[in-house]
Amino acid sequence: MDHFVYREGRLHAEEVPIDTIAERVATPVYVYSSATLERHFRVFDAALAPLDRLTCFAVKANANRSVLATLARLGAGADVVSGGELGRALAAGIAPERIVFSGVGKTRAEMAQAMEAGIFQFNVESTAELVALDAVARAFGSPAPVALRINPDVESGTHEKIATGRRDTKFGIPWDEAMAAFALARRLPGIAVQGVDVHIGSQLTRLEPFATAFTRVAGLVHELRAAGHAIRTLDLGGGLGIPYDREGEEPPSPAEYGAMVHRLAEPLDCLLITEPGRLIAGNAGVLLSRVVHVKEAAGRRFIILDAGMNDLLRPALYGARHEIVPVVEPVADAPRTPADVVGPVCETADRFARDVPLPPLEAGDLVVLRSAGAYGASMASTYNGRDLVPEVLVRGREMAVVRERRDWRHFLSFEPPAPWLDLDKNAPEGSQ
Ligand SMILES: *Cc1c(COP(=O)(O)O)cnc(C)c1O
Repeated sequence: MDHFVYREGRLHAEEVPIDTIAERVATPVYVYSSATLERHFRVFDAALAPLDRLTCFAVKANANRSVLATLARLGAGADVVSGGELGRALAAGIAPERIVFSGVGKTRAEMAQAMEAGIFQFNVESTAELVALDAVARAFGSPAPVALRINPDVESGTHEKIATGRRDTKFGIPWDEAMAAFALARRLPGIAVQGVDVHIGSQLTRLEPFATAFTRVAGLVHELRAAGHAIRTLDLGGGLGIPYDREGEEPPSPAEYGAMVHRLAEPLDCLLITEPGRLIAGNAGVLLSRVVHVKEAAGRRFIILDAGMNDLLRPALYGARHEIVPVVEPVADAPRTPADVVGPVCETADRFARDVPLPPLEAGDLVVLRSAGAYGASMASTYNGRDLVPEVLVRGREMAVVRERRDWRHFLSFEPPAPWLDLDKNAPEGSQ
């Protein structure tokens, strides 16, 4: 359920008619609904109650400061995967003691930054990382709080590019090396082991892979405790999927997920950490775009938008589908004919949909790509010299531009020319 609905024939984001956002900010632009973000966070978090828990939003799904701050006010922590995300989470008002740091390639500089900040937990993914973190923490003068991310070797049944729980991926410590890694961690004076971590992938649409992985991890917690390790935290990662379009699979509800987690986690008496990203932000955002041209070629109808793969990469990267709907509600009996919806970028992969039935659309019409609030703006680039896409946050009747559009002039402003090229006299109008 989200807050993007038609009222009197116009699509609204909460109380704001979406066409007014296009007028004020121009297109393409991401539009987020505060009410939807809040609702999703509350529903997910409540599904885990009354377990002792820390629900850490996965910042990589949507790193906008106002989005993070909206969630922080509800008590969300953050799961970060870089020093940059750590900085953003702190700047959004998320307390360091609610931040966990994941990722296979943390640098020593990032480890030091996180030690300095005083984060709650490092999710360590290899013995090499353990040894490096030990050195950083000893130089810092206090041990680093650590959970070891274990790769449970399960098939998550999701797209291969977002599956992380099989042993042939780069993620986590191999299952059969887990006990040895914990034994090593105990010997390192700069490491204070506190927990076990697992994350098996994203956009999971079935409960079984989670249940399989979490059952294995619960077994490991018992084994570790028997070997004398004090395991106090259990981090189950993120990954619960969302419905993207009518044909796609219907993922389990947060309540079903919560009941399963509860059954497995409760007897362990740990602080339960989760890292949902997509589930919180995915359906809380749309990408608003305008039709630039309609082109008929080779018997196909191409709807060419002013948004491209640089703004929303998921279809090109994972073959992901986003439902596309016009901002002006089509009349009930409007004919629907198949169309390819594409962007302006010079790549064949710059296609949002193929052969989707769409009502009549003309140049100048507005459409939204739904469910674009996660892994949308956070993956955007300026490829093809395009603007960095802006972001708008809506709350009731209010709207705010929470990331401004940036065009080529801005990017040129920090591309100092090599001095021997004598470029200054060619400085473009309006650049500095
Ligand atoms: C990406 C990621 C998440 C979030 O995944 P979602 O599918 O968006 O919930 C959580 N934890 C880790 C370690 C991740 O890499």
